[in-house]
Amino acid sequence: MIDNWQTFLIEGIYFLAAILFILGLKKMSSPVTARGGIIWAGVGMILATLATFLTPHLSNLDLIVIAIILGATPAWWSAKKVAMANMPQMIALYNGMGGGAAAAIAGVELIRASAGHELSNTVQTLAVLGAIIGTISFSGSIIAFAKLQGLIKKSLLFNKQQIINLGLFVFLLVLGAVIVYIGSVPVIVIILFFLVALVFGVLVTVPIGGADMPVVISLFNALTGLAVAFEGFVLSNAAMIIAGTVVGAAGTLLTQLMARAMNRPISNVLFSGFGAAEGQEASDNAGIEGSLKPIDATDAAIMMAYAEQVIIVPGYGMAVAQAQHKIWELTRALIERDVRVKFAIHPVAGRMPGHMNVLLAEAGVPYDIIFDLEEINAEFEQSDVALVIGANDVVNPIARTDPNSPIYGMPILSVDKAKNVVVIKRGKGTGFSGVENHLFYADNTRMLYGDGQKMAGELLQGIKEL
Ligand code: NDP
Repeated sequence: MIDNWQTFLIEGIYFLAAILFILGLKKMSSPVTARGGIIWAGVGMILATLATFLTPHLSNLDLIVIAIILGATPAWWSAKKVAMANMPQMIALYNGMGGGAAAAIAGVELIRASAGHELSNTVQTLAVLGAIIGTISFSGSIIAFAKLQGLIKKSLLFNKQQIINLGLFVFLLVLGAVIVYIGSVPVIVIILFFLVALVFGVLVTVPIGGADMPVVISLFNALTGLAVAFEGFVLSNAAMIIAGTVVGAAGTLLTQLMARAMNRPISNVLFSGFGAAEGQEASDNAGIEGSLKPIDATDAAIMMAYAEQVIIVPGYGMAVAQAQHKIWELTRALIERDVRVKFAIHPVAGRMPGHMNVLLAEAGVPYDIIFDLEEINAEFEQSDVALVIGANDVVNPIARTDPNSPIYGMPILSVDKAKNVVVIKRGKGTGFSGVENHLFYADNTRMLYGDGQKMAGELLQGIKEL
């Protein structure tokens, strides 16, 4: 009777948590309500976790509490401490942990089956699928983290890479099929199965570089959700099934969106690799005409102060410099002088989906002056000044012209079409894809060298002094 009552209560709380997950995700679709969405989903997750403690005859309570403390302490500490500029790699890491946790559940179930505990064929199949997907997402996300953190500087290409990857994948599927078919395999086979999945996740991610990383990161996001949903079926846990499905669906849509933004099919992203590292000095200047022409902040300020329309294009460097607040002050100073100011956001600017929108929202920039690529691209031609702050790949015209370039085909912001272009960056560092940018050498471009925040401050000062 008590068992029934507890189960009823747990299912009720899981249902409530599921509603909170879905409503939370819905709220995350707009920057205005996103903060609230995260809180709603977080409350759902806390409720679901607490409800699990009501499970009848719950054993190993001490181990569960220790595991929660071991996981929550570093997560709480690192989330509080992380610099805004390092947020993308942190998200990649957390995403990997989600995949790893789902794979660990599968590991426990498969080892129990190996010890003679019978699992139905369906449950075992779902456990194996969840294990494959979760483990690949785990090791792939760790590599994505290392790339975003700059620990891996190059896209590692090796001989016969695609054939080796294909061979490993087929071997992985065979091992998975053997585990499902035989049911109770020796533990060594399970260990081999997980090792192959780990290595496959690494090998499939290391060659991916440059402009393709956003697609891969969103794909791992979707995979983690899927793996959690599969393991939810294995544990008959409704909250996991719903949370995993919601994340999997949202991640899949994001992957599609990113792939569309890069203008290449997902298969193309996964099975090709290129790109050098951000911050590298560009070595190949072939085909570049013109020279880099510096400008000082006072002259750039005059140019902007007397413009009719200025479009500001933020990129990853604005996040590094944490220049969004100064940029908003600068915008206000321009608006006070009757200059029309708009922000142009490329879908993959920065290092995580929505990165620039988050920063601009944090600084208080109103949403009605922020525009997506399709909305604003036609306006560059009529703009007197395009101010590029810390953006590089997303404004590189080579994406239109050079089929050998890693960013070829990616739609870019048509900054080069503006009457005047001012680019704030520290030096000659390339963007994430590692290719030189012809825009910086164009006749209508002036380079304002320096840290983004400092230069935005100097521009503001210059405008105030006019
Ligand atoms: P990029 O990475 O192409 O360029 C950033 C530029 O900012 C660099 O050229 C650098 O030049 C400059 N910079 C760095 N620090 C500062 C600073 N403190 N002050 C001023 N400038 C600075 O940025 P984009 O936003 O244009 O492009 C994003 C790239 O990241 C794309 O290739 C995208 O595919 C990739 N990516 C995007 C993800 C996403 O989800 N959005 C995820 C993973 C990758 P210098 O060193 O000379 O200052």
